[in-house]
Amino acid sequence: MNKVILLNNRPIGKPKLGDFKISKEEIPVAKEGEILLKTIYVSVDPYLRGRMNDSKSYVPPFELNKAMQSGIIAEVQASKHSKFKTGDFLSGNLEWKEYQISNGQGLHKVDENKVKLSAYLGVLGMTGLTAYLGLTEIGLPKEGETLFISGAAGAVGTIVGQVGKLLGCKVVGITGSDEKVALLKSKFKFDSAINYKTTPDLKEAIKNVSPNGIDIYFDNVGGEISDAVLANINRYARLPVCGAISLYNNTKVALGPRLQPIILTKSATMRGFIVGDFFEKFPAATKHLTGWLRENKITFSETIIEGFDNIPQAFIDLFEGKNEGKMIVKV
Ligand code: NDP
Repeated sequence: MNKVILLNNRPIGKPKLGDFKISKEEIPVAKEGEILLKTIYVSVDPYLRGRMNDSKSYVPPFELNKAMQSGIIAEVQASKHSKFKTGDFLSGNLEWKEYQISNGQGLHKVDENKVKLSAYLGVLGMTGLTAYLGLTEIGLPKEGETLFISGAAGAVGTIVGQVGKLLGCKVVGITGSDEKVALLKSKFKFDSAINYKTTPDLKEAIKNVSPNGIDIYFDNVGGEISDAVLANINRYARLPVCGAISLYNNTKVALGPRLQPIILTKSATMRGFIVGDFFEKFPAATKHLTGWLRENKITFSETIIEGFDNIPQAFIDLFEGKNEGKMIVKV
């Protein structure tokens, strides 16, 4: 039988295991023009939380009692499609099923000889592209500037920091544990990092680690951390708004400082983006990231959880910061 993970309830606040349901169905058979895919790696991502709500956004919401979806690496088990053969590894947005049928649309081949397969969900996948394009297209880094990153030890944050260093920035990050602070400084070569969970005065601590002020704020988390960062930005600062994970589970609209006076008086630019906004730049960005990986100029971390049934828990654990780098489930 084929296991499938469905959306059982729309979560209220933090998602819980009961919001998902594991069901079983027959393993499907590929018809002419189709392929049978076996799921190998599943990406769990904070943005999926937004798709669990019944609200209009840049992607349609998941439907109740239908399979969840995310970025997946799958192996072709059987092919009646001219472009794909048995044993090919493909990447794309697929359903949380052990086996599924596809007509190949939106899927592209990935090469396990170039880099480990899971990397196509992280540094060479959506999160790597988000990091590179958000930083270079909106952050506009210049040598000697200070780049501050929230959610720094995650899939996006770790790549933003390393690209920032390669482009000559001083890089500072904020994250949720002392282990992650140490990892940022040792493995990812951040100049400095702080733990927001043990820092009483965030505004002051951010000022201390960014003595020249902040020229670029790559924001992955929003909320109070971002309020404290904004108090430390320089004139002409650029603020790519990539994510707001600290607010995704809120049931009420959070209130905070009014931003207009800071943005105005600092002549700052704050711009939200969805990685797909830069779709036409994906090939060039992938080329840069692949080159740097090959030359060992960037590296990456993954937290790999084993077992299809553990996909929902791995997703929930993103909101507890249980991942270092990209959170992935190996089926
Ligand atoms: P991460 O790998 O960074 O995982 C999420 C991390 O967020 C956790 O490890 C945790 O780290 C941190 N976190 C969780 N809850 C909170 C909280 N309440 N306050 C502060 N930090 C919290 O995920 P991604 O790298 O995949 O994504 C990072 C951000 O970028 C997300 O907001 C995501 O939605 C966004 N994103 C946006 C894209 C776009 O196109 N704009 C594309 C991809 C991602 P810690 O231990 O530090 O708390």
